Amino acid sequence: MVAKVIDGKAFAANVRAQVADHVASLKKTNGITPGLAVVLVGEDPASQVYVRSKGKQTVEVGMNSYEHKLDASTSEEDLLALVDRLNNDPDVHGILVQLPLPKHLNEDLVINSIDPAKDVDGFHISNVGLLGTGQKSMVPCTPLGCLMMLRNHHGSLSGMDAVVIGRSNIVGKPMAQLLLGDSCTVTIAHSRTKDLPDVVRRADIVVAAVGRPEMVPGDWIKPGATVIDVGINRIERDGKNVLVGDVHYESAAQTAGAITPVPGGVGPMTIACLLANTLTACCRANGLPEPE
Ligand code: NDP
Repeated sequence: MVAKVIDGKAFAANVRAQVADHVASLKKTNGITPGLAVVLVGEDPASQVYVRSKGKQTVEVGMNSYEHKLDASTSEEDLLALVDRLNNDPDVHGILVQLPLPKHLNEDLVINSIDPAKDVDGFHISNVGLLGTGQKSMVPCTPLGCLMMLRNHHGSLSGMDAVVIGRSNIVGKPMAQLLLGDSCTVTIAHSRTKDLPDVVRRADIVVAAVGRPEMVPGDWIKPGATVIDVGINRIERDGKNVLVGDVHYESAAQTAGAITPVPGGVGPMTIACLLANTLTACCRANGLPEPE
């Protein structure tokens, strides 16, 4: 078997086009422009790239982008004061504080100071609780993008066996909640899981969110399973700097029914979902119907 490649790049372009259409009609009919504020503290090179990309794509779909770049030595008090201003700014519908924050800042405290209705990353404790109890919430962008691709590929996920490798708050745990919400039987694996290959071999859906280059080989994959590779790992190969996932793509693609590539799979969906979340937040704030 050779797997169908799930094209996250094309899917994300489609999501962005739908968001752009909705934004255009919001402007025309209601005179409202959704706004996303991104706060970057310090000069982490990867974070700078993400923030630039988020700002560019926000403007491309017709939304307002507000970037706040703060010095690495910014005090917690000043950062909390900025979040408070953004919480109270009616032109800002979504707020994202880029993680990781410099060590002297308490990430939990800062994230939980964001108005949950504007928490487009879905990391606020209220949104985590709402998601866990199956209530309307802001859903973390990366798992949301994975779920959208899975639904698009399978239609219903009901009754499928899903294994999520990784239990982080930003990917693994919310991914498991979303799959449970879609009536999968979910196993969450992590660094202490016994017999990981056997656990993975049982799965109809494998979501790998580990951060270890090509850790999941093809012979762990049940024939015909769908593989979603969240990992983004930069490695040196043949003297070149390349990006690889947490799954060994070449071997897994021989066994899987469908697979996301790295790059071009989950990655592009994350920002597309951030824009979709900002649009949703804007519609909710204005009492308007939410996008589908
Ligand atoms: P974390 O480091 O926070 O979590 C990694 C998880 O993997 C942990 O739960 C850890 O287990 C588990 N793990 C580590 N080693 C093993 C192992 N040998 N066997 C089984 N499980 C293991 O990472 P993130 O969740 O933040 O990110 C995961 C990956 O996804 C990274 O490559 C990251 O770059 C990528 N990513 C991609 C995004 C995108 O937009 N495409 C967005 C976010 C992340 P334990 O808890 O026991 O330590």
